[in-house]
Amino acid sequence: MIWKGALVSMGSGRRPERVAVIGVGVLGASVGWNLSRQGAEVVLIDARRPGEGVTNGSFAWVNASNKTVRKSYFDLNVAGMAAHRELATAIGPDSWWYPSGHLRWADDPAAATELLATAEMLASWGYRVEVLTGAEARRLEPALVMPGEVPVVWYPDEAWVHGRHLVGRLVDQAVAAGAGLRSGCAVRDIITGTDGGVRTVVLSDGTRLDVDIVVNAAGPSASEVAALVARQLPMRREPGVVTRVDCAPAPIGRVMHAPRIEIRPDGDASVVLHSREIDALIDTGEEVSELARMLHESARNVVPELGDSHIAETRVANRPIPADGFPSVGVVPSVPGYYEAVSHSGITLGPVIGRLLATEIVSGKTDAMLADFRPERFAVPADG
Ligand SMILES: Cc1cc2nc3c(=O)[nH]c(=O)nc-3n(C[C@H](O)[C@H](O)[C@H](O)COP(=O)(O)OP(=O)(O)OC[C@H]3O[C@@H](n4cnc5c(N)ncnc54)[C@H](O)[C@@H]3O)c2cc1C
Repeated sequence: MIWKGALVSMGSGRRPERVAVIGVGVLGASVGWNLSRQGAEVVLIDARRPGEGVTNGSFAWVNASNKTVRKSYFDLNVAGMAAHRELATAIGPDSWWYPSGHLRWADDPAAATELLATAEMLASWGYRVEVLTGAEARRLEPALVMPGEVPVVWYPDEAWVHGRHLVGRLVDQAVAAGAGLRSGCAVRDIITGTDGGVRTVVLSDGTRLDVDIVVNAAGPSASEVAALVARQLPMRREPGVVTRVDCAPAPIGRVMHAPRIEIRPDGDASVVLHSREIDALIDTGEEVSELARMLHESARNVVPELGDSHIAETRVANRPIPADGFPSVGVVPSVPGYYEAVSHSGITLGPVIGRLLATEIVSGKTDAMLADFRPERFAVPADG
């Protein structure tokens, strides 16, 4: 392969830095797009076609209201929402960016009280939220069935994203800016030099690419790619199931969390369904078609207009979650030139992680926003 990028300023001086991004889902595409804009020599490598991993099997809700477990994680997700808005301005929003807000309600008093308490805390953190009545929510979404007096939490700044279309746009622009693209080629090996730093990436077709830097953005396969440089990246197993239902026209216009079912539009003639309760059945051996049927039934209870709709596609995907539940982003100091971009909530976080990591690679400067999410927290002790 011929490298044809520009010179990048790296810490001590100027020399060509050749970066291989391994995995082109929302995270790899975001890192690659930002790197190519900053003049780095980039090659994007994916075992399949870009955007066809978890990014294409995601509920794809852009939010921070569900990320309150740690304030720094909430802040990163808020930055993710802002980065999406900036990206929509930079690359154009059509076909991937749907900033239509999010409705959430519960049907038992304890869960409703919890939703309201979370909303109050989020408001105190400066997050935009309103509490509507069911009747007011139905003015936004007339197809919903819910009691008129139930409290409905409304997050106007939240959104959903068409992940595969977003990845396609980022990859097209990165390639137009000079990035290379190798799709249908898995990375089989990463060869390191005597100093332990990355030197060469070996692809499944036998191609060898000499590189200075690799970015592990391999989603649920990230621990296998990490193992190629003898790094242990512990990950959780947390599969999820998402079903797309065809219905013309789509009876709802925004993301919503109803009791036991999450629904969002997917273009004008489909909706996408997800439920944490149904995810919990994946490992019980239940047929995927039965999981899809249950999702469809729950959705029809909330949106009766989905009665005539039919299930078009169901995907089961593993969430790419490092073992402690938080992202792993940045350089791994023990392997010079090896970086990670691995995260759940990657749809929300992709654009901000892409920007921060590209800046770290090009300038050597780490951003304080990533302080709690550095890869070295998973370093194996010397005697381990
Ligand atoms: C059911 C479900 C619901 C979700 N809902 C949301 C949500 O509402 N909001 C949200 O923000 N996030 C959500 N997520 C999480 C989000 O979808 C993921 O965090 C995000 O898509 C991860 O993107 P990625 O680029 O890391 O991974 P992927 O999209 O999987 O991309 C990784 C790529 O790496 C490639 N690859 C793997 N190994 C190799 C190799 N050796 N060589 C070359 N290429 C390789 C794969 O082919 C793949 O294309 C959800 C996930 C699931 C499963």
